[in-house]
Amino acid sequence: MFDVAGLRDEFPLLQAGSGQAPIVYLDNAATSLKPRAVIEAVRGYLADYSGNVHRGQNALADRASQAYEDSRRSVARFLGARASEVVFVRGATEAVNLVAGGLALAPDDNVVVSLLEHHSNSLPWRARCQVRVVPLAPSGLPDLAAAEAAIDARTRLVAITACSNVTGVYVPMQAWSALAHRHGLPLLVDAAQLAAHRGIDVQSLQCDYLALSGHKLFGPPGSGVLYGTRAALERLTPLNLGGGCVTHVGLDLDYELRELPWRLEAGTPDIAAVIGLGAAVEFIEDIGIDAIALHEEHLRDVLDAEIAAMPELHNHSPSDARAPILTVTARDPAIGSEYIARVLSDTFGIMTRAGHHCAHPLHAALGLPATLRASLAFYNTEDELLRLRDALRALLRRGA
Ligand code: PLP
Repeated sequence: MFDVAGLRDEFPLLQAGSGQAPIVYLDNAATSLKPRAVIEAVRGYLADYSGNVHRGQNALADRASQAYEDSRRSVARFLGARASEVVFVRGATEAVNLVAGGLALAPDDNVVVSLLEHHSNSLPWRARCQVRVVPLAPSGLPDLAAAEAAIDARTRLVAITACSNVTGVYVPMQAWSALAHRHGLPLLVDAAQLAAHRGIDVQSLQCDYLALSGHKLFGPPGSGVLYGTRAALERLTPLNLGGGCVTHVGLDLDYELRELPWRLEAGTPDIAAVIGLGAAVEFIEDIGIDAIALHEEHLRDVLDAEIAAMPELHNHSPSDARAPILTVTARDPAIGSEYIARVLSDTFGIMTRAGHHCAHPLHAALGLPATLRASLAFYNTEDELLRLRDALRALLRRGA
């Protein structure tokens, strides 16, 4: 039995205010809510031992360094990686930029991405080299044959999301890793959306790089991860240089970089956020990601059935093999998604998101205006989805 009620008790933002129903939070693809364990881990660091990391010889610095490296070990376990393969960054955006900036791409090089990508996995490449955007097959998945055709002698990397933040579709990564490696190319997986819903094992994913956002994984904003195999991380020239990333600096400023992963973490990191991320992945491990996936699939199916019974809405998410993300538009073009999201929030206490979800090319290719996205997490319930349905019915009947 999945104890949703017990889990919800761990989230202060899901508790009812005096005389008020709790909010319905369905904007988890933008950012997730934080459990007490994460809040307490951050508070504990700030209140009790807020020393700097790795430059200690005092008790607070020792304790902060210990907690920071414990967090790295927890994240490594969560991903099936080694601690030395986990680089802490501020989010998936920074992870992709670290690779794009670190690879010394030439303007005539190219990187293959898909039409599904969030801007964070297209613009960092676009700023430095050519980008070949793989279109979608009728299944809603990036077209592997088109990717094969796009690869040429100047291709330096394949970068693909494992889960779309717009349609929720899961991209079967093994096929992409086989494709990239067949051509001798590294594969970067954008797992920002995948991580809260499905277990990740970088060994079976066979990826060279993987980007994560801690705040979408019930951790604090300012926490994120770039995973890379040793060989893949060694290929990166650090974007930032300064304290913490060198073993020696000479009088003429010649320097020797530290070993991985610290050479890629110059300067004081967001220590509180990293420690909070460690607590978040331990929290997820305690629940069990497979139990989370089962509960969420049930919720997704309930939501799909309710939306299918509403002729006023057009569902743009595929029906299976997708995260609990639903993206719709009103069939009446006079009823804009921004309007719907605003009324859902301010009249019904239901948080969704309207817009292009940092995926303008996808919306343009599909001919979509701003869409309305409801994105779920394991703490959502069937009752909440019925509240959403009732609110949508009332709102759409009322009209724009
Ligand atoms: N990739 C995907 C698929 C996303 O959904 C997002 C954020 O929405 C990102 C990357 C960027 O994450 P962040 O803004 O946390 O760096």
